[in-house]
Amino acid sequence: MINFNVPPYTGKEIEYIREAVENQKICGDGPFTRKCSEWIEDRTGTAKALLTTSCTHATELAALLLDIKPGDEVIMPSYTFVSTADAFVLRGATPVFVDIRPDTMNIDETLIEDAVTDRTRAIVPVHYAGVGCEMDVILDVASRHGLAVVEDAAQGVMATYKGRALGAIGDFGCYSFHETKNFSSGEGGALLMRDASYVDRAEIFREKGTDRSKYYRGQVDKYRWQDYGSSYLPSDMNAAYLYAQLEMAEEITGTRIARWNQYYELLTPLRDRELVELPHVPDECVHNGHMFYLKCRDMDERTALIDYLKSGGVLSVFHYIPLHTAPAGVKYGRFNGEDRYTTGESERLLRLPMYYTLSADEVEYVCDKVKEFYGFGQL
Ligand SMILES: *Cc1c(COP(=O)(O)O)cnc(C)c1O
Repeated sequence: MINFNVPPYTGKEIEYIREAVENQKICGDGPFTRKCSEWIEDRTGTAKALLTTSCTHATELAALLLDIKPGDEVIMPSYTFVSTADAFVLRGATPVFVDIRPDTMNIDETLIEDAVTDRTRAIVPVHYAGVGCEMDVILDVASRHGLAVVEDAAQGVMATYKGRALGAIGDFGCYSFHETKNFSSGEGGALLMRDASYVDRAEIFREKGTDRSKYYRGQVDKYRWQDYGSSYLPSDMNAAYLYAQLEMAEEITGTRIARWNQYYELLTPLRDRELVELPHVPDECVHNGHMFYLKCRDMDERTALIDYLKSGGVLSVFHYIPLHTAPAGVKYGRFNGEDRYTTGESERLLRLPMYYTLSADEVEYVCDKVKEFYGFGQL
């Protein structure tokens, strides 16, 4: 059986967790948390990175820092994970969904401006599959209308747009270290801030509304309740687990990209005969091998392919149910413009197994099965 996902594991995680335990410093913001933050800051050039308990919580922090209020509007794609919208709905804002581009499944940057109203506060591009959105256009719309940009870069760690790290381009960037992502601590995330002036407030929101972060650094002699807040910092044991993977980020990414390229090559004959469509990576983008998907003709064909692969011992899965069609999306959000691609493309998309320890032989086997399904070539 070839699983759809196997969480990354490098071998050093246990040693680092033992070290964290022996440090007797296992709550948040210990030595491993610092190492992870520094790694992110060095790699991405962001002014400040704070580890969080999830990408969802990083996005909530961004919404708090932007002082998002009831009645505010936030522009985002409908083809995304619930957290992109949830973090803003929790503050009373309305997600305003915009259609995607069929080639990358990212928000269509040319449709954003039409969705801007006098209540719009932010744009939230989602870098689907670790392929960057058209950020220059998005930043331009944002600056002309005085809007913040919060990147949902949950899938974008180690990927770039015009040489800039995803997550470090907008005002805020949100990473996920959930076990389904390229680097994992089981559950985890990070908030990246381009402007260091947000750091003080972010630290207070993240530490239950207190200035405990300053206290730990010896900058104040006691910590006190300063503002509202919550608890968004992970234990140092989680950070220890994550750090073992960040140290091997080049190798993990390189392996994933090799498997991605192999899928692409082996399935190109099917694409050339217009049996399936394959992902598109714009020239400005370097992706991170987060996901390999193909698009079937329609949903029925996709269902049949999922079943066929399953009977051959391969687990493949579809992805997001567009948020504007889900109960909470209907209740809290609205779709601006026409749903030309969001629903139709999401119904055709199928994700194939992709993880660090997936072997080249396994990719070949999966591709053979896909080709068999389409009656392509004699095996
Ligand atoms: C995984 C994911 C999230 C949520 O990440 P968590 O760390 O589980 O909160 C949000 N947005 C996108 C696009 C994701 O892929």
